[in-house]
Amino acid sequence: MLVVMRHGAPESEVQRVVETIEEMGYTARPMPGRQRTTVGLIGNDGRVDGSRLAALPGVQELIHVTKPYKQVSREWRPERTVIRLAGGLTIGGDDVVVMAGPCSVESERQIIEAALAVREAGATVLRGGAFKPRSSPYSFQGLGTPGLALLKKAREETGLLLVTEAMDETGLELVGEVADIIQIGARNMQNYALLKRAGRAGKPILLKRGLAATIQELLLSAEYILAEGNPDVILCERGVRSFDTVTRNLFDLAAIPVVHGLSHLPIVADPSHGTGHRDLVAPVARAAIAAGADGLLVEVHPHPDRALSDGAQSLYPEQFERMMRELRPIADAIGRRVAEPAGSRA
Ligand code: PEP
Ligand code: MN
Repeated sequence: MLVVMRHGAPESEVQRVVETIEEMGYTARPMPGRQRTTVGLIGNDGRVDGSRLAALPGVQELIHVTKPYKQVSREWRPERTVIRLAGGLTIGGDDVVVMAGPCSVESERQIIEAALAVREAGATVLRGGAFKPRSSPYSFQGLGTPGLALLKKAREETGLLLVTEAMDETGLELVGEVADIIQIGARNMQNYALLKRAGRAGKPILLKRGLAATIQELLLSAEYILAEGNPDVILCERGVRSFDTVTRNLFDLAAIPVVHGLSHLPIVADPSHGTGHRDLVAPVARAAIAAGADGLLVEVHPHPDRALSDGAQSLYPEQFERMMRELRPIADAIGRRVAEPAGSRA
């Protein structure tokens, strides 16, 4: 539930609302706004009797949040969340942020080459996994901690920000030391212990939709992170499993405007895992931007034929460069712009 205070309600009245919520056995989240302060009530499982709160001085109205997720909903917060990253980059505002790089960090040479290529083409964030969730235990599992050191080096050499995956709670600590954005992958979307920890990570979280997760389940998983105090969650549509195996996953384009309608959180698209084939990546990326995606997560490898994971869906640098050129006018057409690398940013 949301307790909306009257415009100009003094701090003492807000405090009284907070204390009353706590006396009722719930948690209060005061949210000062430009127009007026709102106090969120959380910790309830079901409808709350708000009569005590409605009678307090300074209270204008009570809004019952009808969705099972609360803090991620548009009812809770009508204006969009804009996440601020180092160097002035924002996600969720007018800019469309392109995060690109290999599926896995494989060697120093590979990650630096990839970073230089994607920056040259206009990406602003470097992706690359050091800890890899693989379907087979015999597949390449990622370089682990040394991979994080290589990512850090690539960041220092190129100025690109970093997004990389954490698979467990220990990994989350390690990744949090180098990454600008911590990725929680599709397989971990419902790892609630990890989500709670991510809520205390102090870094933005990129939360990928689970392999067969509904949009409501995705939003409820995001709620875990917000409920622990981290408001900076970027959702990611990466396709869901379907009966048709012609593509690796079924990319759900409509999820982008659906999420924007239900939630104030930004959502980015991953056309690489969403299709599984490099020739399908650019068309789906173009469609995702047109549909309002706040960014892209794209796999690019300097030598996709030699990639240790996801080579078939990794773009050649030239393909990525072409795709970036195609995306700019699409973003412009809907009143947005593709974010430029640091230095060229206004
Ligand atoms: C990845 O981004 O490389 C990855 C493993 O993605 P997902 O969790 O969406 O499968
Ligand atoms: Mn991958």
